[in-house]
Amino acid sequence: MSGAGLPVCATGMTCRCQHGGVGDGMVRDGLELLFVVAVGGMLWSAVRRLRAGQVSVHRCGACGRPTSRAYPRCTRCGAPL
Ligand SMILES: [Zn+2]
Repeated sequence: MSGAGLPVCATGMTCRCQHGGVGDGMVRDGLELLFVVAVGGMLWSAVRRLRAGQVSVHRCGACGRPTSRAYPRCTRCGAPL
C-alpha cells in the first residue's frame, strides 16, 4: 500500500508507481522538446542578427577581402585598415 500518494513520475528518475514508466517518457520528451526549442530559438536569432547586418563583415580597402576589425591591419595583405 505504499506509493498511494506519490506523484506520477514527475521527476522522471525513480518511478515507484506501476504503470510501466509511460509517464517518465512523456516528461522526458517534453523536456527534450523544450531544450530543442530553446536552442533553436537562440540559433535563429543569431542568424537573423547576421542577416540584418548587425554583425557586418569588414572588407579590406586594399584587397577587398573580408577581414577582422579586431586587428589594425588587414589579416590578408597587411594593409592598414
Ligand atoms: Zn587586404
